[in-house]
Amino acid sequence: MDSFSETDLEDKILDAIKSMGFEKPTPIQAKAIPHLLASDRDMIASAQTGTGKTAAFGLPSIQLTNIEDKSTQTLVLCPTRELCLQITKDITNYSKNIKGLSTVAVYGGASIEPQMKALKRGAQIVVATPGRAKDLIRRKKLLLGNVVRVVLDEADEMLSMGFKEDLDAILSETQKKKQTLLFSATMSKEILTITKKYMQDPIEISAARVNQGADNVKHFYYMVQAKDRYELLKRIADINPNIYGIVFCRTRRETKEIANKLMQDSYNADALHGDLSQAQRDEVMGRFRKRQLQILVATDVAARGLDVNDLTHIINFNLPDDSEIYIHRSGRTGRAGKSGISIAIVHTRETRKIKEIEKKSGIVFSKASVPSGKDICTKQLYALIDKIEKVKVDEIQIEPFLPTIYEKLDWLSREELIKHFVSAEFNRFLSYYKYSRDINVSENQKGESGKRGEKRRREDKGKASHSRLFINVGSKNNLNPARLIGLINEGLDSGDADIGKIDIMKTFSFFEIEDASEAQLIKALKGQTFEGVSLVIEPSKEKPASGSFSKGKSSKRRDHSKKKEGRWGDKNRRHENRGRRNRKS
Ligand code: ADP
Ligand code: MG
Repeated sequence: MDSFSETDLEDKILDAIKSMGFEKPTPIQAKAIPHLLASDRDMIASAQTGTGKTAAFGLPSIQLTNIEDKSTQTLVLCPTRELCLQITKDITNYSKNIKGLSTVAVYGGASIEPQMKALKRGAQIVVATPGRAKDLIRRKKLLLGNVVRVVLDEADEMLSMGFKEDLDAILSETQKKKQTLLFSATMSKEILTITKKYMQDPIEISAARVNQGADNVKHFYYMVQAKDRYELLKRIADINPNIYGIVFCRTRRETKEIANKLMQDSYNADALHGDLSQAQRDEVMGRFRKRQLQILVATDVAARGLDVNDLTHIINFNLPDDSEIYIHRSGRTGRAGKSGISIAIVHTRETRKIKEIEKKSGIVFSKASVPSGKDICTKQLYALIDKIEKVKVDEIQIEPFLPTIYEKLDWLSREELIKHFVSAEFNRFLSYYKYSRDINVSENQKGESGKRGEKRRREDKGKASHSRLFINVGSKNNLNPARLIGLINEGLDSGDADIGKIDIMKTFSFFEIEDASEAQLIKALKGQTFEGVSLVIEPSKEKPASGSFSKGKSSKRRDHSKKKEGRWGDKNRRHENRGRRNRKS
């Protein structure tokens, strides 16, 4: 399909997307839009990140909305607040020429009252995270009686974040006769069970997994010892002075650590992860979008669904375990006909992983060798000269200062002068790389052999310390570990928090959460309800030693569920102090 006008989309929508720069439908749009406009058969669509899935379901949903009717007709469920807001913004933009159509976002971890008000004003399209949707259904603020279309966006992610039972519950509230659309970048076994349970004879569409953009992406891997990863990252940034990219890390802790180091080393970098407040995230994303930041260090979940164009590099600080994740990450560069580079930093034991990704995805990696100090200095130097050559000179502004400057520099020859200017800008690099080592390792070279390597790996894994929290719901309230994980993830708006041991009792439960997320989680869940119970969550009496606890101690705990909510405020504060102490230790 060469143009959107070949679809049956109405002019008001066509005008809106045209003004957004959409010229022709992406492959998944070309398949999904005609189907959705013509048929109410269920649909499963798979296409990788960045292939325009939002418009694929958004445009037909807008067109099929009955404007006269203020009730909710389309429900879009998605895994995170960030994505929820982005989809809402996209749909609002696509429908900007349609008066009377209202799209509302409802998501966890934020105050529920404004969301209830927004729903009350009428929202034909509701975009929601699962836990909050469920809460609102329970409070009878989100009414699904007239919903004719349910979209499960990033279904794979929703399942892996623990939202399965919330989805079950929500879907069972909707009328039988409705269209269910499932969009996902990957198709897992769990997704197939959902589709079997909730979809009837779905039509399946997919756009080639490795999309058009992928041809424009070159894949490289660098092999270094684990301890040299950061050094390599710096060299990659240094040899690409105009880098505009995302560095993917595995955990929030690593994300923060790498971003902090980069900032200390005066790179133009910042971190995006689940511990940030919404305002902080918006701020970081805003700077990155405006290119005030060159390097964004992020976890997969925090970066999911974010769309930023023209990225030059994707850097896998660690190779992900799942090759699909590698494909997602790398699919964020090389978009819209531009070329991009995806880099994997690997150590000697990971050659197998590279082979596995190649086999599963058809991607071909080239091994790159780590640039030497001299390579980097050469590159930086020429970039600087290029900048000096092209810099715009504001004659009028600079004029009054020149006579004094000329006079002061009069004793330098032209050659000398150039040397001085370049050194002023460049000494930092020259001195940093003066004695730089060769950090390349080869496949058959043992990277970190024996016990030392083993120890480091253990340290990498076991560093996070956990706090143990009490929550006043248990199996009697239909809580189970998966739902608890969903509740936590939705509260933190992230799937990357480190959750430890979970104990579900009858009327209450205990769970461990990484210290760093404790305060945020308590704040996020305060005032929320679960199965109609207003949640109470607080530190449990004893803190387990090094991440585990003994059964004996736990039985001594009082049943907190009987406690009144009145004491809640000061408990909370006390807890925060404790949290801070813990983090330092
Ligand atoms: P996905 O959900 O598949 O990850 P998105 O729906 O977020 O992808 O779209 C990715 C980006 O592509 C967005 O910036 C979106 O505005 C843009 N886009 C979507 N469809 C088109 C199109 N037909 N032409 C140009 N850009 C598009
Ligand atoms: Mg999407």
